[in-house]
Amino acid sequence: MNFKNIKSFCILSLLPFFLAVSYAETLSKHVIYSPLLKKEFKNQLNQDLDFLYSAQFGAYLSSPKSNPMFSKFFEQDSPMVTGADISEWIKKRAHFVIAQGDEKFLMSAKENVKYPNSKAKAYSQEWNNGFSAEVKIPEKKDFVPSKKSNVAMTNIGAFLYMDGKINKNLNAIMLPKSNTASEFVSYPITSPRAGIFMMGEGLFNPELSPNDQKVFSSNVANSIFRLSILIHESHHSDGNGRSLCFPHIVCPKGHSMEGRLACDYPVNGPYFYSFVFSTAMKNVYGKDLSYVERSILLLIDMDAASRLVPNDGNPSIPSFWDDEPEMLKEGVIN
Ligand SMILES: [Zn+2]
Repeated sequence: MNFKNIKSFCILSLLPFFLAVSYAETLSKHVIYSPLLKKEFKNQLNQDLDFLYSAQFGAYLSSPKSNPMFSKFFEQDSPMVTGADISEWIKKRAHFVIAQGDEKFLMSAKENVKYPNSKAKAYSQEWNNGFSAEVKIPEKKDFVPSKKSNVAMTNIGAFLYMDGKINKNLNAIMLPKSNTASEFVSYPITSPRAGIFMMGEGLFNPELSPNDQKVFSSNVANSIFRLSILIHESHHSDGNGRSLCFPHIVCPKGHSMEGRLACDYPVNGPYFYSFVFSTAMKNVYGKDLSYVERSILLLIDMDAASRLVPNDGNPSIPSFWDDEPEMLKEGVIN
């Protein structure tokens, strides 16, 4: 893997991911998977989720090397963050993992829907209206990739919510009721926390993985790589009004990703979330990583950190955005 591959990966991973309930279980017990998903993808992701659940960060958190954002980002009940806490954080933001092809089950459930915070333009809309001529509002086609593209992971639930809000339309999708039942249910997308993640070949592409020989295995480097993407995508399930879905901005002139919708203004944006998570995991599992794996993860992390760009000196763009999710009022969808 070289810099070019890392760039490709970063393009692929533009967006977020997963799940549901008791604190005492790993996320793999709660994710509902599409029947269209390859079994080896599902099994590998479940293995990654179990790995995350067992992670302990005590030594990292007490080390001067620890990033203060780690506790701030993932703190649940205690500042001593554990893998179970991070699993819980993801659980609020991710519920379904679907495959490329499942988008054919998308439908419009209702028109003329009144959304909350409808007068608070999302930052992305404001930029589109001249605040920054380079930025455009993401369109549905940007988040529902074609079958030909090599998708890693995309939080289409978050962006279908944004799409619905912009068009005053309620999107819905037919998904399995559970992992065991054959019954499908229509899920209206009433919040950016719908938690519907599309997973594709890109997440398991050997050329993009830190260890190209051990993609489907318990290899720690590859698990950290995939989980970091999951963290990034999960954070797109956050936000309300102006911060809705924590949209990316077009990278500025001179940036390695110049012109692409792949940078963030806020410190608590999706790229920095994945950077902070991956850095902590590398610290905890450093002894399990080969020199090459560690070097590649370092490059990926440096790339993620580089996506945090200055806000053009505009004081109206805060450094931290509100991550409280908005939601359609009960009854509006009926
Ligand atoms: Zn993203």
